[in-house]
Amino acid sequence: MLIYLDNAATTPLDQTVRDAMLPYLEGSYGNPSSIHAFGRQTRAAIDHARSQVADAIGANPSQIVFTSGGTEADNLALIGVMHAQPVEKKHLITSQVEHHAILDACKYLERFGYEVTYLPVNQQGLVQLEDIRAAIRPDTALISILHGNNEIGTIQPIEQIGHLAHEHSILFHVDAVQSFGLEPFDVSALPVDLVTLSSHKIYGPKGAGALYIRDSVKLLPRALGGAQERRKRAGTENILGIVGFGKAAELVGKHHIARREHLVQLKQTFIEDLRSRSLDIVINGHVDNSLAHIVNISFLGIDTETLLIQLDMEGIAASSGSACTSGTLSVSHVLKAMHLPDSVTNSAIRFSFGKDNTVEEIKAATEKIEKVVRRLYR
Ligand SMILES: *Cc1c(COP(=O)(O)O)cnc(C)c1O
Repeated sequence: MLIYLDNAATTPLDQTVRDAMLPYLEGSYGNPSSIHAFGRQTRAAIDHARSQVADAIGANPSQIVFTSGGTEADNLALIGVMHAQPVEKKHLITSQVEHHAILDACKYLERFGYEVTYLPVNQQGLVQLEDIRAAIRPDTALISILHGNNEIGTIQPIEQIGHLAHEHSILFHVDAVQSFGLEPFDVSALPVDLVTLSSHKIYGPKGAGALYIRDSVKLLPRALGGAQERRKRAGTENILGIVGFGKAAELVGKHHIARREHLVQLKQTFIEDLRSRSLDIVINGHVDNSLAHIVNISFLGIDTETLLIQLDMEGIAASSGSACTSGTLSVSHVLKAMHLPDSVTNSAIRFSFGKDNTVEEIKAATEKIEKVVRRLYR
């Protein structure tokens, strides 16, 4: 039996989403920019998907720009906004625990003369408001903070951070890829200006995502060439991906409470069951203020890579954290920023649950984990 506990890396495609996509794989192929009936059909499909995504976060459809995923939306938010600033506004603030789509966009901007403050975090992975306040400068244009951390699950106080940003007339971008569909997120009530979403983390297809952009925000496009996406992202639309993303977002609206409850139960069961086996473990991140589907655990005395391989051989799919860093064997930048002892950072594994996981799977998984860990202890 294979048990998939890596839902923060990606989720399986929902059957309902698949069914919604099929007509655009098989019959409907018009270019949405064409004025004829073929084009009008796919145009209507994209408009519908845009409303579905907008509804899921309380936005207007006109505020949603479809992208190729979370990475592109993060890049567009940071680079697009900074490039649209007057020359004297060249500073932005982010944290040391962001996704690489943010950190690498910051590195890119630094090469062109922009200045970036990378905020530290505490041992739970939380950004401190005092640190943000101290980092704000007259030339700060943007603050970008991850909502729910993809490696440890810690949820940042985005409402307070947003208010702080707005008090200083600074734009606020939130990467909500992991929290979308689990934590309440209403842009009409939150002090946020830009929000990143991704389809394949919410049971939609890969290669689709969106950036929410509040009306007043100026942003230069990264992809140039056509008038698509209100001139913010040129190129013929990924209709299949967008339709699937729209359906997945609609399902989020319908099922987020039930999904969250299920995930809370799975995570609780997992942690309690694992604790009862008296292994030498440490849970990383914030225990309460944490995403329902992610738990990051260190198995002291055992090396992450070795454990992952052994778990894989037992049919359990987990991860060392962000998919982008695994395979390169480098220590997680998130755990490093939390200043945990080497024994903890070198033995950390992320387990992330999904709506299709069952309690039985969780129990079977903990049993296998104990077996593997005891074998490695010897
Ligand atoms: C997965 C992820 C991304 C990247 O999204 P893609 O659609 O895979 O490009 C960005 N940010 C966070 C927090 C993520 O978990």
